[in-house]
Amino acid sequence: MARHVESVCRLCRREGMKLFLKGDRCFTEKCAFERREYAPGQHGQVRRKLSEYGTQLREKQKVRRLYGLMEQQFRRCFALAERMRGVTGENLLQVLERRLDNTVYRLGFARSRKEARQLVRHGHFAVNGRKVNIPSFLVKAGDQIHVRETSAKIARMTESVEGVDRRGGVPEWLILEKEKLTGRVSALPAREHLTLPIQEQLIVELYSK
Ligand code: SF4
Repeated sequence: MARHVESVCRLCRREGMKLFLKGDRCFTEKCAFERREYAPGQHGQVRRKLSEYGTQLREKQKVRRLYGLMEQQFRRCFALAERMRGVTGENLLQVLERRLDNTVYRLGFARSRKEARQLVRHGHFAVNGRKVNIPSFLVKAGDQIHVRETSAKIARMTESVEGVDRRGGVPEWLILEKEKLTGRVSALPAREHLTLPIQEQLIVELYSK
């Protein structure tokens, strides 16, 4: 995951929405966006009208930061989405959702995508019985993701999965078996499964220039 040296809460304030980058803190009144719902910096409260390009750029940055990707990684996801059948914008969101680090986060094994990525990198997960330590690995319908036997005692993972309902629960396209520390992809994520306000067509317009 991209390394960001400043407070990540500034990113939420910059993009004007909660990006849920800090795990449990995002669901408490300590959330910086709840307390200061305006852009960071001296002129953060000044309302500026964005140009068409500016609007598209902000939308892209928002989604890229939400998934914690570098520009190059995000571009690669877009290139893949373009090659797929269907609507490019929706394909892009599906590719982002299908990444193993995001799937692990969505299943509740980690409190944030950043934490999920680290856990995947450290080899704590297996897909269909085989160890996978590549965060960009794309899961498909029917795949089974489970915490490897040697990793099942990691407290932060078991505690995290216990609190998954508090953080909004598991999305419809995934099935979680908490006791077995296992998840299954019941179907590919569809557009309606993503409830965050994202205008993906603006990203397509930006990259099509
Ligand atoms: Fe964003 Fe979470 Fe920080 Fe709130 S606590 S501003 S949602 S990263």
